[in-house]
This record gives sequence, C-alpha cells and structure tokens, in this order.
Amino acid sequence: MAQNYDLIVIGEGISGLTCAGHAARSGLRVATLESTLFGGLVLNVNELDGYPGKESGTEFASELMQASAEAGVTSIQEEVTAIHPAGGAFEVVTGAGIFGARQVVIASGARLKKLGVPGEKEFEGRGVSWCADCDAPMFQNEDVVVVGGGDSALQEALVLANFCRSVRVAHRGEKLRAQKHLADKAAANAKISIMWKSTVEAILGGKMVEKVRVRRDGKIEEMASAGVFAYIGLEPNAGFAPSGIARDERGHLVTHDACETAMKGIWAIGAVRTGYSGLLRDATVEAQHVAEAIRSRLALD
Ligand code: NAP
Repeated sequence: MAQNYDLIVIGEGISGLTCAGHAARSGLRVATLESTLFGGLVLNVNELDGYPGKESGTEFASELMQASAEAGVTSIQEEVTAIHPAGGAFEVVTGAGIFGARQVVIASGARLKKLGVPGEKEFEGRGVSWCADCDAPMFQNEDVVVVGGGDSALQEALVLANFCRSVRVAHRGEKLRAQKHLADKAAANAKISIMWKSTVEAILGGKMVEKVRVRRDGKIEEMASAGVFAYIGLEPNAGFAPSGIARDERGHLVTHDACETAMKGIWAIGAVRTGYSGLLRDATVEAQHVAEAIRSRLALD
C-alpha cells in the first residue's frame, strides 16, 4: 500500500530541504525523495558567496538536513521516475514503489553541463575536474584552464589561484556574465588571465592531461595545462516531470510567480525552474514562501 504524505519534496538540495523543513514545522506530513547524496551542487563549494554566516556548502546542507529530520520529515533514498495526477492528489513513482502526495514540490536542481569535446570523458579524474574546492590542491604550482564566463567559472578560478601557478579562463564571449565582485576579484588576481573569444576544442595528454587545444579568436593554439575545469552552465534535472509542465528553451520547468507550475499542486523551486536567480538567498526565501503557500492551500481543503 502506498505511503501518503501532505507534501512530497523531490530533491534534498538547499531548496528542497528548506521547503520540507518549513512545511513540516507548520504541521504538514512531509517526505523528501533524493536519488543521490543530500546537499546538491553546494556540496562542492567551500565558501558560500554572499550568504550570511559564510559556512561551507557541506556545513549548510548538513544543518538543513538535520533540521529537516528534527522537524519530522521522512527522508527516502529513491530516484523519482514519474509523477501522475491521481484523484486530486499525485502518485510519485520510484523504483521502490509509489508514494502518494496531496502536493508535490520539484526541487531536483541541476547538474553541470559537459563540454562534449574529445578528451573530456577520457581524462575525467586525471586532470579533468568539476570541483575546484575538492581537487585544487592536486594542481599545486601547475597551469590550469577554466572554461566559462559566469559566476561558477570565476569563483572556481579564484579557488584554483590559491594553489596553481596560473589559471587561464577560456571564455567564448567578450563580456563576462559573472557578478561584478567576482569579476573584479579575478581581474585583481595576478595568477588569473582571461582568454576572450576562446573555446576549448580538445583535451590532450598521456596518462594525465598535458595540453588543451583552444580556438582563440578564430585561431587554433595548444597550451600546456595540467587541469581543465569546465563551468559552462547548468542543465536542469527535470526528465521525470510530467509533460504537462512547460519547459523553457534550456529545459527548466516553467512556473508562475508563486513557483507553481501549470499543473495545480505541482510546484518547482531552485535551479530546476526557469528564472531562478542562482543566488542561495533567493532559493531559501522562495522555498519558504512555497511551503507557506502549500500549508495555506491544504488548510482550506
Ligand atoms: P552560467 O551563469 O549559465 O554561465 C555559463 C557560462 O558558460 C557563460 O559565460 C556562457 O557563455 C558559458 N558557456 C555556456 N555554454 C558554453 C559552451 N558550450 N562552451 C563554452 N562556454 C559556454 O552558469 P554558472 O556560472 O554555472 O552559474 C549558474 C547559476 O548559479 C547562475 O545563476 C549563477 O549566478 C549561480 N552561481 C552563483 C554563484 C554565487 O552567487 N557566487 C556562484 C556560482 C553560481 P556566455 O556568457 O557567452 O553565454
């Protein structure tokens, strides 16, 4: 027999845990479903930017996980494969069976996009990394390349500059997308240089990464590099969401202002939804608002 909840939150990242804990503290029966480790992408960030307290991503996620458990949230380690409407409520389908929910919040976040160039897969863990905070110490006094021009690329370039001899940021455009304070810090760091109009075309080496082939302003060059860190944006984890929920051109779930999708009773928060700012502060605020909106709605039912 299906286990039934007032609210099922899909994803135990910062958004999901905040929403679930808040809803449970307001008296709802809540479960979270997570296919991997709780915490999401912030687990890879040692120093959270612009967040009060300045704790690490792991500490922040662990605190939220503990608060969620103390609030009575049931944490279930299962991957969601589908959500079906069922008589005014929903069936959330997993490999371990079906869970019933009166309301569903999709907080499944996003994953880092891959470059899709030769050598990327082959050298994963042998010079190709997606976590500067985890792997930077292995590149002590080495030259490395970071790809991208957004907040992630510059934040991680700054982490790498604490260890590496040089950090070249290959950006396809002529203007950074990153917030000004990160761009300013990178510009002031003598170890960081930006290669404009540059795309990485191949990652080369023997046992480990040795070189990167870059197309820079139309011309191909190969440069020595022991590491490649690609931060070229995020892909939403939304494959399981019902087709009745619209996606934007990059696959994010479309919601209205209050974060509810076109399917009444299914909400989307954080990096999986279109229009998310990318700022943790905003993620926690919207997660609380959604929990409150759900509590008010269920109180009227
Ligand atoms: P992003 O903001 O989407 O930036 C991706 C960057 O990669 C852009 O500069 C883009 O170039 C470039 N790019 C995209 N596809 C590419 C490709 N195929 N080849 C080469 N370059 C490519 O991604 P992000 O930096 O990971 O940030 C994701 C979200 O998290 C954002 O909302 C961000 O604000 C947030 N975030 C915030 C912080 C913070 O608050 N400190 C830290 C990290 C992330 P174009 O500019 O030319 O499009």
